[in-house]
Amino acid sequence: MSDLSPEALVREEVRALQAYHVPPAAGLVKLDAMENPYRLPGPLAMEMGARLAAVAINRYPDPSGAGLKEALRSALELPASQEIVLGNGSDEILQIIALALARPGATSLCLEPSFAMYRISAIAAGLRPVGVALREDFSLDEPALMRALAAERPAVTWISYPNNPTGNLFPRDAVLRILDAAPGLVVVDEAYHAFAGGATLLPELGRRDNLVIVRTVSKLGLAGLRLGFAIGPRAWLEHFEKLRLPYNVNVLSAAAAELLLANREVLDRQTAQIVADRARLETALDGLGIERFPSAANFLLVRVADGPAAFEALRQRGILVRTFHGSHPLLANCLRFTVGTPDENHRLLEALRSIST
Ligand code: PMP
Repeated sequence: MSDLSPEALVREEVRALQAYHVPPAAGLVKLDAMENPYRLPGPLAMEMGARLAAVAINRYPDPSGAGLKEALRSALELPASQEIVLGNGSDEILQIIALALARPGATSLCLEPSFAMYRISAIAAGLRPVGVALREDFSLDEPALMRALAAERPAVTWISYPNNPTGNLFPRDAVLRILDAAPGLVVVDEAYHAFAGGATLLPELGRRDNLVIVRTVSKLGLAGLRLGFAIGPRAWLEHFEKLRLPYNVNVLSAAAAELLLANREVLDRQTAQIVADRARLETALDGLGIERFPSAANFLLVRVADGPAAFEALRQRGILVRTFHGSHPLLANCLRFTVGTPDENHRLLEALRSIST
């Protein structure tokens, strides 16, 4: 009799995967997930409530997402000539791209350390994952990357621009050289675009046929809506669109996003505050003598003497950050924390001061 147990039936590479772990945050200052710490202003929240009350939840969403795409195009100044595919968060977009490119034997290349979902989505889809290590200071090892592009000929190369969890922005010229050298698709993930001083590869769309850009509204203050998208040439996106589940963005999220994108200045003010507070936090960390890495995102990566102990000591003081110790050798004793409200940042700094880092 054949063995029909999970051990026998679940694919080996899936059994070997570690689940993307999200720890409980109840009662803690939540600085672990790069969320915008600000709620909507009262009047806008009320308006959203009224809008949502009017939504026909008995109906499926508009499968084309035309209204929402238009709202994204105008609020985020996206080129009209490029196609958009909507995702239930940009996580789903990464999954769709991986699924589309997972021909037998095809390879996915990502930098290490970078966003964990590139590798997880690739493995889940059946792609062969290849990693190229960053240098110790998290800069690109361009010669190593160029060698890997030539040797591995990846179907897809993922670039987080700026990079999560390190926070740095790779030089634009280097990304252009990667686009020149890559034999397959290059996905430039601009999840943290809002904090990166305007850095974007958007102008390259239309000039290059192997570039697709991924964005999300999560870091703009709308993480709970679950809305991300790919933008790029029709030749790629028409295939991705076929893999998108027909109603993946629900009617409430679409209606809320349309309203909030039309009020973009509210989100922009919050973003500007976060960028200003990032600079204050950097100065304060320098004052405490804590090693930190440059950030073009809404979070900071630091290295302390004993990462796991500091993580635990912070949690005991009511502050949840993210520890990366053990996830990659370059991230030994590293903690990442979101830039929070001034009060949250103050509490974080006080806690760091009180523990021996
Ligand atoms: N890309 C990067 C680089 C990220 O850091 C994240 C979230 N942490 C995502 C994509 C996914 O974001 P979301 O699914 O919320 O759009």
